[in-house]
Amino acid sequence: MNRATGLDRSRVKLLRDIFPGDSMTLAPEEMLIYGTDAGRQFSLPWAVVRPGEATQVQELMRLAHKDRIPVIPRARGTNVVGACVPDQGGIVLSCLRMNRIISLDSQDFTALVQPGVITGELARKAGSMGLFYPPDPASMRFSTIGGNIATNAGGMSAVKYGVTRDYVLGLELVLPGGDLISTGGPVHKNVVGLDLTRLMVGSEGTLGVIVNAWLKLLPAPEYRATMLVCFDNEDLALGAADDVFRRGILPCAMEFLPREVMECLAEYGPVPWPGNSKSALIIKVDGLKTCVENHVEIIRRALKGPTHLDLALQDDDQRIWELRRLINPASFTLGPDKASDDVVVPRGKVLDAVRGIRNISGKYSLQILAFGHIGDGNLHVNYMYHASDPRLGAKVTAARREVLRLVLDLGGSISGEHGTGLSKRPFISWQLSPRELEVIRGIKKVFDPEGVLNPGKMW
Ligand SMILES: Cc1cc2nc3c(=O)[nH]c(=O)nc-3n(C[C@H](O)[C@H](O)[C@H](O)COP(=O)(O)OP(=O)(O)OC[C@H]3O[C@@H](n4cnc5c(N)ncnc54)[C@H](O)[C@@H]3O)c2cc1C
Repeated sequence: MNRATGLDRSRVKLLRDIFPGDSMTLAPEEMLIYGTDAGRQFSLPWAVVRPGEATQVQELMRLAHKDRIPVIPRARGTNVVGACVPDQGGIVLSCLRMNRIISLDSQDFTALVQPGVITGELARKAGSMGLFYPPDPASMRFSTIGGNIATNAGGMSAVKYGVTRDYVLGLELVLPGGDLISTGGPVHKNVVGLDLTRLMVGSEGTLGVIVNAWLKLLPAPEYRATMLVCFDNEDLALGAADDVFRRGILPCAMEFLPREVMECLAEYGPVPWPGNSKSALIIKVDGLKTCVENHVEIIRRALKGPTHLDLALQDDDQRIWELRRLINPASFTLGPDKASDDVVVPRGKVLDAVRGIRNISGKYSLQILAFGHIGDGNLHVNYMYHASDPRLGAKVTAARREVLRLVLDLGGSISGEHGTGLSKRPFISWQLSPRELEVIRGIKKVFDPEGVLNPGKMW
């Protein structure tokens, strides 16, 4: 039997019984927003449902499995790769009404939360109890825990604290077919069975629907310091980055700005560095106050010939991070449209990647900015252009392919945080071998034999 091609009356009635009132909509004008995400591809769903309870998700998945109806889990739609676009039709399952922080435990250092909780809200609540939820994607003020888990979101502080994966202790999941299973729980160690929790993290809503998550918390760091350090050449900046690690310091964030980004920021507004600055690092350290002060001193001594150094303590650091946040709006001075990738290379290959990307930029006469999380080798690559000019569009496509090839040749990965969704799907086989893909597809079949959960994504 093939997958369903739409919802007939009897199915709509069954859905209405599960999702009364405004917990379901079929109105195209209301569903428009659910047909897209920050990746900007679009396809209208057949229906949108908004469960408040896990039992509704179970009933939906039972029906979807039996009648082979695609179901696309969705949270805030901030992923940039089309990971929740219903491109094969189906029912969009919005998780935003499952949005309770059920518990925060300062003795166990755990939280139990529903998937629709906004990540920044969890971090804020934890902070008010002296606890710390470290994953900090730049979207944390508007993306959710469920979406972060399903994409294994990372942020600036991944270099020290890791990514979402490192904070998921257990999940409650609804599988296609409607079974509710638990993987892990409120324990910090657990080696019984295969690690299904880790398998779920980053699976982009293709294996199960997360309805609860046990998360790990840490004690909140007492103090933090952020340094903006500029240099008149890139080798000095990257050498300084190495030195920080070599002196035994694990910064909580380390960002790299190459000359193209510094020029772009200078074009956009006032910048604190002198004109001879050609690259910069933003380095953040946190921990006990005495340790932070010590680390700042060690870093200061390690720096060779900076053209500019700014040190900000505690909340005063926002003036430095504001410059980092301005990169995105400033990049539009180079072109009204943007295509972007988030590639990763081994840390020691960052300079090779930056120079290789610069060569590709020159070859195609395209404005390409490559910058970002040097601490973990994760570079954001922004291609700025005019989408109205088809010749430029073709150049961007060709340049992107070369950049992805370059990072793979350097031993890297085509995505460090954003995932693959629809937009990176054509390139997955560049990174994964046929045998690896076969294993992944086999796993998908075990979880979802009818292929109803977020079909067509990833592989
Ligand atoms: C301005 C901006 C900045 C960003 N910065 C970062 C960044 O620094 N780091 C980073 O990693 N990403 C970043 N992103 C990308 C995006 O925010 C992340 O991918 C985020 O994790 C998506 O969360 P969401 O709640 O919007 O989920 P959605 O986009 O709605 O969904 C993402 C995926 O999760 C699945 N999903 C959602 N809920 C569930 C559930 N309950 N069960 C199973 N699957 C589910 C969906 O099917 C989809 O595959 C940024 C995006 C924007 C627009």
